[in-house]
Amino acid sequence: MTQEDPLSQTNTYSFLYPATVMVQIDASGEAEADELRRSIEGEEFSLELVTRAGHRFTAITLDSGAGELDQIDGDPLEELCSNEDCRASLSDGEGYNGECGDCADRRYLHELGEHRGAPRDDCRACIEAV
Ligand SMILES: [Zn+2]
Ligand SMILES: [Zn+2]
Repeated sequence: MTQEDPLSQTNTYSFLYPATVMVQIDASGEAEADELRRSIEGEEFSLELVTRAGHRFTAITLDSGAGELDQIDGDPLEELCSNEDCRASLSDGEGYNGECGDCADRRYLHELGEHRGAPRDDCRACIEAV
């Protein structure tokens, strides 16, 4: 048996990092996407990522409850209407307080009392009041 040079021996040192991870889920709605997202939390995934210097990323686990909706079809959430069942773009500048123009108008009419006695299912304020 040959004598090994101790300087040529290497060990694998695994470091644990918190990281920002973007998980894309295709779903027909936010509730479905959210359910799918939660179903994969805590599961360990194998990765095959290697940096140019040869450092390997080998596994990833999603922390329970740590995921937040960030983009829809590539648009940042802050550029979309805050109402989950709407999510229209705010880029026309017609919105108010995070809602698109249509939702803000509906809320305004709601606050004027227009929906009193006849709640509308397309009005966030009516839905929230239930
Ligand atoms: Zn809206
Ligand atoms: Zn209303």
